[in-house]
Amino acid sequence: METKIPYKIYLAENEIPTQWYNVRADMTNKPAPLINPATGKPLTHDDLAPIFCTELNKQELDNDTKWFDIPEEIVNFYKMYRPSPLVRAYFLEKALDTPAKIYYKFEGNNTSGSHKLNSAIAQAYYAKKQGLKGVTTETGAGQWGTALSMACSYFGLDCQVFMVKCSYEQKPFRREVMRTYGANVTPSPSNTTNIGRKILAEHPDTTGSLGCAISEAVEAAVSQEGYRYVLGSVLNQVLLHQTVIGLETKTALDKYGIKPDIIIGCAGGGSNLGGLVSPFVGEKLRGEADYQIIAVEPASCPSFTRGKFAYDFCDTGMICPLAKMYTLGSQFIPSANHAGGLRFHGMSTTLSQLYHDGLIEARAVEQTSVFAAAEQFARVEGILPAPESSHAIRVAIDEALRCKETGEEKTIVFGLTGTGYFDLVAYEQFNNKTMSDVIPTDEQIAESLAKLPKVPGLE
Ligand SMILES: *Cc1c(COP(=O)(O)O)cnc(C)c1O
Repeated sequence: METKIPYKIYLAENEIPTQWYNVRADMTNKPAPLINPATGKPLTHDDLAPIFCTELNKQELDNDTKWFDIPEEIVNFYKMYRPSPLVRAYFLEKALDTPAKIYYKFEGNNTSGSHKLNSAIAQAYYAKKQGLKGVTTETGAGQWGTALSMACSYFGLDCQVFMVKCSYEQKPFRREVMRTYGANVTPSPSNTTNIGRKILAEHPDTTGSLGCAISEAVEAAVSQEGYRYVLGSVLNQVLLHQTVIGLETKTALDKYGIKPDIIIGCAGGGSNLGGLVSPFVGEKLRGEADYQIIAVEPASCPSFTRGKFAYDFCDTGMICPLAKMYTLGSQFIPSANHAGGLRFHGMSTTLSQLYHDGLIEARAVEQTSVFAAAEQFARVEGILPAPESSHAIRVAIDEALRCKETGEEKTIVFGLTGTGYFDLVAYEQFNNKTMSDVIPTDEQIAESLAKLPKVPGLE
């Protein structure tokens, strides 16, 4: 007999996870190691030490430890905005007239407006513990920079953010939130770094890209005493921190004996999706349960669905390590027409391996259909979703409508990663019907992939 499920399944404060789950420990095919482009050899702790915080490097390279204790200071910070609710989308189900049961895990209940704070606070904590003066980073749509500026102000660390130029111009209010938390924000590419000056000389009109901002932030970190670089997505450590999302989701579902059939998340660099699905993928890997897991990406930046599984640089400047991942090529710059985040050319190495092994699937969706889903969702569920999150909403709605056709009562869980208050220029385009879809041609992708690095021994 089914218990009546509440609209929001809340957990108690003492149900916030006290350990992060490392899905790599359960993978038979481990993600391929990061490679030092100078030597062609797997990166070591010593290679990483000048760039990232020591404790985070350990997490990055550890494919075997299944559970990492979350330091008490971080759990305490989590209490400001966690546990986050798991919501049963009764109103959306009704509007769609579907027999499917839809749930979403809402990560937008903090000032930064997204899940990114879950990793920002962890990274700032380890930087502080190491005695650093500050950290540098890049931000695309702005959520990561905002989350990191909050985390740094909490621990009294300096925070230098390189913000992709088109976002810097489109979202001046994001910038002001970061500055309010004490961060220093520079539009990228900038004249403050060698790589920025080089990119500007070659492409004076560029609107910037995440890959380019990463190059600048890394250069800024290694050239200042007492600074390290931190990244808000893609890396194993970030995916690890984000598993609080999936662990809470599992605890909430288990309370009511709910077993999802489909789990959906949007995928930029893969951190929220990885965090949401890790505990469920773990069950799949151990043969305990089965789930359909869907990564949703923009048709304008389709790394999983049209990219190549190959070693590539994580940044445009080609100074970062090489990662084996689904990539469109580090020189790929998505059309400036694309409004809503998820603009990274590559993908988490862990998720790339899982996708390659058939444990997760992927879909690419066009932004006009994404905003149509966002509007439909906002009107019935009340929350104004981030454009990134709305990629997951799109596919959740598509799957629920498929259930309506087949009469199947599937249980769908999706990650609602954040709110869209700073994305109103994009909403305005949608409302004015001036939004369009720009999808890269096969030629454009092939041209970009032709520039993939040739690393001896890795072909
Ligand atoms: C950054 C961001 C994403 C995408 O990043 P992932 O690392 O792929 O999770 C999705 N949604 C929101 C709201 C974001 O801020």
